[in-house]
Amino acid sequence: MNYFFYFCRKIVKYIPRIDNTLYIYIMETTLVLLKPSCVQRQLIGEIVHRFERRGLQISGMKMMQLDNDILRQHYAHLVDRPFFPLLAASMKASPVVAMAITGVEAVAVVRAMTGFTNGRKADPGTIRGDYAMSNQQNIVHASDSVENAAIELRRFFRPEEIFEYRCATMDYLYSPDEY
Ligand code: UDP
Ligand code: MG
Repeated sequence: MNYFFYFCRKIVKYIPRIDNTLYIYIMETTLVLLKPSCVQRQLIGEIVHRFERRGLQISGMKMMQLDNDILRQHYAHLVDRPFFPLLAASMKASPVVAMAITGVEAVAVVRAMTGFTNGRKADPGTIRGDYAMSNQQNIVHASDSVENAAIELRRFFRPEEIFEYRCATMDYLYSPDEY
């Protein structure tokens, strides 16, 4: 498939079925942060490996030190909670690795791979269920909706830091009518 069609189809794909109804497939990019609990425990490679092994594509990746400004934006829904100072401290304890991860329905797929917030309650097989024992030091952040993914990607990446390229494995990750 040529590049032109690939990038057109990247946004939304409509596929006529035999009964003329439409399927809509969406290639999405989501934000993942490998938190200081991941970086300090030297699990960066293992967690990146999980996303790659699933068939998700890394579209952007960088190490950065978070500060109070970005954390107050990123955790705006939690700033008034009593645990926010501890959460902010835990997120500033070392650099994090920010990742832009792409795939069909990537937001939901990555969120499911991440698991329940509290590592002690997360299902085995999820990242938190396999690597975390804490409600706070839980290894990864993952965007929870398509809308928030767009906002969070803009928060952590400049446009030129997210790359659009065709993964060579694409035709073996999906059937031709899936992306
Ligand atoms: N958090 C915490 N205590 C809580 C709830 C959340 O320290 O009682 C932290 C935890 O690190 C979590 C982050 O705040 O990942 C964001 O919370 P949210 O409810 O958005 O959970 P998530 O989307 O990360 O699963
Ligand atoms: Mg959240």
